[in-house]
Amino acid sequence: SDVGSQKERVVTEEEWLQKWEMGNIGFHKEQGHPLLQKYMDVLLNGRSGLRIFFPLCGKAVEMKWLADMGHSVVGVEVSEQAVKEFFSEHSLPYCEEPVPEISGAKMFQSTSGNISLYCCSIYDLSSLIVGKFDGVWDRGALVAVNPCDRQRYASLMISLVEKNSSYLLVTVSYDPNKHKGPPFYVPESEIKSLFG
Ligand code: SAH
Repeated sequence: SDVGSQKERVVTEEEWLQKWEMGNIGFHKEQGHPLLQKYMDVLLNGRSGLRIFFPLCGKAVEMKWLADMGHSVVGVEVSEQAVKEFFSEHSLPYCEEPVPEISGAKMFQSTSGNISLYCCSIYDLSSLIVGKFDGVWDRGALVAVNPCDRQRYASLMISLVEKNSSYLLVTVSYDPNKHKGPPFYVPESEIKSLFG
């Protein structure tokens, strides 16, 4: 398939912040994603007390699901508005603190301590800062990353997961010649070459 028309396209962080400000967030699923419900067992694989990562998390309600199941959730999101809306919409008290390793970044943590959301670009993170994860829910993340940044994103994600981790990835199948994205079209062959 010809994805040439999307290759050069870039959505800037500023544009994402604007989407949040304008309430232009059609990607947000208030009821959570049915595919996570369906594949929860694959993600958890019978294990408890996992560390689960939500890249480009928005205010995904699935973070609350996993925290309520006793797992520890870490997300990263550029929009502070999104992060604050997550906590307020679930009536979760939180505190915020600077992240010493990343200039300008803040970490918002639920008072109970099991949900930590970094407000910064995902490219500022490393396993030295956030540790490694047992599971990843990648929905609206790889497909939202600019095509020119995909390799960098995938390498970073690989560096953030433990050996025995599960990585659930949602992509969207459509004709990339008809829509400019995001979400961007990521062909299966590319997923294979990115993640091996
Ligand atoms: N995963 C969420 C949101 C998907 S939309 C969900 O399922 O609802 C993609 C999100 O990524 C937006 O909220 C946008 O603000 C955020 N984002 C875009 N680029 C980012 C980056 N480089 N680092 C962190 N967050 C980013």
